[in-house]
Amino acid sequence: MSLVAGVIRRLDEKVVNRIAAGEVIQRPANAIKEMIENCLDAKATSIQVTIKEGGLKLIQIQDNGTGIRKEDLDIVCERFTTSKLQSFEDLACISTYGFRGEALASISHVAHVTVTTKTADAKCAYRTSYSDGKLKAPPKPCAGNQGTQITVEDLFYNIATRRKALKNPSEEYGKILEVVGRYSIHNSGISFSVKKQGETSPDVRTLPNATVVDNIRSIFGHAVSRELIEVGCDDPVLAFKMKGYISNANYSVKKCILLLFINHRLVESTALKKAVESVYAAYLPKNTHPFLYLSLEIAPQNVDVNVHPTKHEVHFLHEDSILERVQQHIESQLLGANSSRTYFTQTLLPGVAGPMTKGLKSATGSSALTQGGGDKVYAHQMVRTDSREQKLDAFLRPVSRPSAGHPPAPSAECQPAATVSWPDEEMEELPESPKLAAEVPGPPEGPKKADRLPPETDGSRKRPREDSDVEMLQEEMTAACCPRRRMVKLTSVLTLQEEISERGHEALQEMLHNHSFVGCVTPQWALAQHQTKLYLLNTTKLSEELFYQILIYDFANFGVLRLSEPAPLYDLAMLALDHPESSWMEEDGPKEGLADYIVEFLKKKAKMLADYFSLEIDEDGNLIGLPLLIDNYVPRLEGLPMFILRLATEVNWDEEKECFQSLSKECAMFYSLRKQYVVEESTLSGQESEECESASVSWKWIVEHVLYKAFRSHLLPPQRFSEDGSILQLANLPDLYKVFERC
Ligand code: ADP
Ligand code: MG
Repeated sequence: MSLVAGVIRRLDEKVVNRIAAGEVIQRPANAIKEMIENCLDAKATSIQVTIKEGGLKLIQIQDNGTGIRKEDLDIVCERFTTSKLQSFEDLACISTYGFRGEALASISHVAHVTVTTKTADAKCAYRTSYSDGKLKAPPKPCAGNQGTQITVEDLFYNIATRRKALKNPSEEYGKILEVVGRYSIHNSGISFSVKKQGETSPDVRTLPNATVVDNIRSIFGHAVSRELIEVGCDDPVLAFKMKGYISNANYSVKKCILLLFINHRLVESTALKKAVESVYAAYLPKNTHPFLYLSLEIAPQNVDVNVHPTKHEVHFLHEDSILERVQQHIESQLLGANSSRTYFTQTLLPGVAGPMTKGLKSATGSSALTQGGGDKVYAHQMVRTDSREQKLDAFLRPVSRPSAGHPPAPSAECQPAATVSWPDEEMEELPESPKLAAEVPGPPEGPKKADRLPPETDGSRKRPREDSDVEMLQEEMTAACCPRRRMVKLTSVLTLQEEISERGHEALQEMLHNHSFVGCVTPQWALAQHQTKLYLLNTTKLSEELFYQILIYDFANFGVLRLSEPAPLYDLAMLALDHPESSWMEEDGPKEGLADYIVEFLKKKAKMLADYFSLEIDEDGNLIGLPLLIDNYVPRLEGLPMFILRLATEVNWDEEKECFQSLSKECAMFYSLRKQYVVEESTLSGQESEECESASVSWKWIVEHVLYKAFRSHLLPPQRFSEDGSILQLANLPDLYKVFERC
């Protein structure tokens, strides 16, 4: 057997180029990213993308930027031609995205490219096509607006293996939506759209005057956009700046969503992802993750600019120090330790974005706005700001405290009477089905769904009235990050929302937002500290307002708390009528008749109640579901009979706005934490007290970790709270110092 050496032949140049191009452009989304960056470099303010078959058949990008000069058209698709870089030294201070002049060339080696472009001073537009980096024919004059349209057809037509690997157009389309969605968030002010060819409604669309938060809302949904904290730091020593929005501790998702831009280019950094996740680990429930949009600007000489276009993973100089600084900043923002007020307006005032700049004067007369962590802290300002530090309970009696962030495991005798389920999920069966009027409702089983994700509403849900006014938002990027949300356009609801925002009290909101929880005094009252002041807060009143606001703001978008056993409305109504609180009198007629009437009446309203309030009543007149307003919270079901009675008697069912308002009020009252329904340990004998230890921990735990946590981010306290005693200032540290000084 003779061993004959293979002949080494130089590969055909076209083949070499094709292989190289295939490396640069691996899938349609890569090509689109490069082309979007070109549009941005060309100062476009509108970028429209049209896609056919996931970009494999057609990608068309139209911008309104500077355009390409006619005389440059013959070389734009050659390798290493760029209008953005002249010398090697320029590499170090490059600020535009592209610099390698490689993208268009690569694309033209693996697809049919057509460019139509018009500059401001040209009389008309020019169109030309490319193949393997070369012009096919001289540019032809044609009609066209200023800017550039690039059409990429039959991507990878000449690389069979790559085409085969990309056989799922909808997956490719998903990637495209992801890339464009992220760039649109990073480039608010520029309008983006992506649609499939032939379809009229785009799947991504952002408006020219939208803010970053508006764009996050339109791409990732309301559930996250209302839980955002603005971040920003500038470190001259490490020569980097950071800006962005991160989710607060109320929000979590199954998979971390990190939109990372370094020097305005969408990149990935495993190190940075790990670093930020480790900060959140202390605040989020196990196995859940945050949402972050971070834009870093790092001195160009410190970033490895020569990253291969497909190697999104970046590295930079001083990485460890920069990551540490980023972690510190994020942690301080999460804790609210830094008191710059940035996030609040979004939670209840959709549309208002950006920091509320109004500085609040602290008790000492100095501005409450502190700058970062480096400020000197004077002794009189030294107050506990970390709510994880010791609290009031520690001084009272030792209780086994569940670790922060997790509800205590429900004990057998303290099973909740309701389990949480979602419309599309199987009803969860409890081993024993506890009676509705559970003696001691324990903590709910933590349904750690992504924080208050709106339910997946399927098309079969019937909407009793004004169909056109509640519509589905088509936000189908990936199911994990983009829950569908029904957009509410009912004037009545919008007006109610406005009314809430109008009566809001900024200073109280700021206090609630940054408070440190001190402890529960009774089920109704709790102490909280803010800066140098101590406050007594009416948990009942605050929680009632909180639930009212959630009912109005998340209108038609609630999850469902499914009762483990259907509760007959008739029995509930009878229970309520038997109660003195119902003030039933002989002349009202027999209770049975009234109860029957209530059942029939509510059954008539069932569709509306289910559709807008997730209050579910079955055909036999049983209550089967209640709205899930906040995670880990189940209303005290002892209040249910009265709630049902009042639904029939106290709600104004005639006028739309009044109906929604009074219904929400009743529901909020039922959900609020009311002392008559909380068993206090002091009223129990020693033995019972032992047994109900976990129950007593649980209401306190819920007050602190569920309600007050929600007050921080979801409650816009009305002005009246400062007047009606719902929030009382008890002590002010500087004043106490003065007292002591005189002693
Ligand atoms: P680079 O962006 O690295 O310069 P590309 O291959 O992406 O390389 O683009 C080559 C050149 O084509 C750019 O330098 C630019 O002059 C021109 N160009 C590409 N796309 C556009 C566009 N949308 N608007 C204006 N000019 C463009
Ligand atoms: Mg480029």
